[in-house]
Amino acid sequence: MPRINCPQCKREFVYRIVKDAPHFPFCSERCKLVDLGAWLDEQYRIEEPVNPEALNRIEKNGEGKENE
Ligand SMILES: [Zn+2]
Repeated sequence: MPRINCPQCKREFVYRIVKDAPHFPFCSERCKLVDLGAWLDEQYRIEEPVNPEALNRIEKNGEGKENE
């Protein structure tokens, strides 16, 4: 069976025919979308979703600076 390395996450995966790999040449829809997004934005996106805690921290920091 042919082996291929996903161009996005570099994980090796195996397929019998291209039909078996609906997201060929990517291992998954996620990698396909990430790569597509990277092309559209012309840069790679952060893979983890922004977590609300980090946003809160940024907002608090902004307020702190305004108060000073
Ligand atoms: Zn992948």
